[in-house]
Amino acid sequence: MDDMTDRYRALEAVILGNYPGADLARIRAAYEYARMAHETQVRKDGTAYVTHPLATAEIAAEIGLDEDSLCAALLHDCIEDTEATHADIEKLFGKDVAEIVEGVTKLSKVPYSNKEEVQMENLRKMLIAMAKDIRVILIKIADRLHNMRTIEFQTEAKQREKALETMEMYAPIAHRLGMQKIKWELEDLSIRYLDPVACAEITEGLKLRHVEDEEFTKKVCSRITERLDENGIDGAIHGRTKHIYSIYRKMYGENKMLSEVLDLYAFRIIVNDIADCYNVLGYIHDMFRPIPGCFKDYIGTPKPNMYQSLHTNVI
Ligand code: MN
Repeated sequence: MDDMTDRYRALEAVILGNYPGADLARIRAAYEYARMAHETQVRKDGTAYVTHPLATAEIAAEIGLDEDSLCAALLHDCIEDTEATHADIEKLFGKDVAEIVEGVTKLSKVPYSNKEEVQMENLRKMLIAMAKDIRVILIKIADRLHNMRTIEFQTEAKQREKALETMEMYAPIAHRLGMQKIKWELEDLSIRYLDPVACAEITEGLKLRHVEDEEFTKKVCSRITERLDENGIDGAIHGRTKHIYSIYRKMYGENKMLSEVLDLYAFRIIVNDIADCYNVLGYIHDMFRPIPGCFKDYIGTPKPNMYQSLHTNVI
């Protein structure tokens, strides 16, 4: 089995995990089509071009996109970079897939500029595409995430340009759409190219305190688990050190040293119902001293994207 087949199998595994009813034969056909269409093209890192649409489809599968989106993710660079036309794709994969690929292609043609009016124009185009079919933007975000993950092979000028565009346009859109994990990764990848010196400093600093941080989050998690158990609440707890860009913002926005950034850790407690959310908040505020003015009730007042939870900062 060659390397490409392995990668395709990995994609299938993600699809089966997230979307068991998917028509794998159809997705496989989209992959084969993309592989043939991009056959003579190579990426900057020397790998076959099709690794890019394949990785884009894998990200799309991870966020749970549907079958048409997965086909479109595999085919997303075909109209722009190969002989394939809208009509070819429509004939083989249907109208929706062709429309999505066309939409992604149109977005790629929007030139980025940091002039304000041009930026507004770009954002307007993104919003119009979003209103037409949200899947276009979701695939575009997956496309950008993979391009940012592999941007080390581009020229320095290109790296900065893409990083700036990602930070100013893609990360905020991912945030608005509720894709926090992708937003964090986009920000952390971008800041590495926008402020490499500061970013290296934070990375090094975090590395030095890694063991300490791990122990700390573990200890807090187990204390919370204990308290929930005592009170018969069934909950899942995740603790983490905050991502690099969020620490960066604190250091440079508030002019602090890494050791002075106090909210380095974040904990998430997931329980079964709303009443338990408020109960757990009570336990947390009893166990750790809350910082006044930091509590946010997104259950009573959900965010516009319908996100609901309680946020608090404690010492
Ligand atoms: Mn692409």
